[in-house]
Amino acid sequence: MIEMLDVWKTYPNGTNALEGINVKIEKGEFVYVVGPSGAGKSTFIKLMYREEKPTKGTILLNGFNISKLKERQIPKVRRSIGVVFQDYKLLPKMNVYENVAFAMEVVEATKKQTKPRVLEMLELVKLKNKLRSYPSELSGGEQQRVSIARALVNSPGTIIADEPTGNLDPETSWEIMRIFEEINLRGTTVVMATHNREIVNTLRKRVIAIEGGRIARDQQRGEYGYEG
Ligand code: ADP
Ligand code: ADP
Repeated sequence: MIEMLDVWKTYPNGTNALEGINVKIEKGEFVYVVGPSGAGKSTFIKLMYREEKPTKGTILLNGFNISKLKERQIPKVRRSIGVVFQDYKLLPKMNVYENVAFAMEVVEATKKQTKPRVLEMLELVKLKNKLRSYPSELSGGEQQRVSIARALVNSPGTIIADEPTGNLDPETSWEIMRIFEEINLRGTTVVMATHNREIVNTLRKRVIAIEGGRIARDQQRGEYGYEG
């Protein structure tokens, strides 16, 4: 469960990115975050995985106030959230297997725990035939599948994705969306910022629209709602 209570974010240069956000996302939900460029979507998402801290207000993750965490508690929160980016952020000098396994190494899993779990995740995203390929040898869709496997490998309750299909062609975008749907059906909460109108309007889910740093709309089975 993720809850924001009167959350404000002002960047050091004085930009007000978010102004008084109140929202509650329950376990198992699938939520799109939409809105014009500069509306505050990325900031909203960065607050959830504690890449940024709120200037004011409270963010609860599974009941814990993540605004008040001690440094040593941050890794545990990060582990309970998997993050997927538009530009994949894979490590170029590691192959597919190593990119996913590394996420388990940093949480100090043993080798014995790591191997079967990495293979299970790469099976889920249908990349078991590319274990030894390097990111530069993969298509964009394949790189995104590796990043999804990496985000899932430590069994987080929530996956947060910032424009995960932003660099992909329509057909590949749909392949990626089917994976997110499968993950959600298995019980993982999905929060996704997107500009993909076709996907939002076809795969109908809760839509939170952000405009000028405020929630302009919050609808179950909502629509994209913007032109272009
Ligand atoms: P979106 O993801 O909807 O495009 P962002 O959350 O990236 O919106 O940005 C919201 C506002 O905050 C914009 O005006 C943007 O320029 C500003 N902003 C984002 N990141 C920073 C930053 N690190 N420093 C200063 N301003 C920022
Ligand atoms: P897409 O058109 O979907 O972006 P690509 O043309 O980039 O796909 O890649 C098609 C297939 O070829 C993919 O399975 C990818 O793994 C493989 N591939 C692409 N570049 C290389 C490379 N430099 N070495 C080995 N395999 C590659």
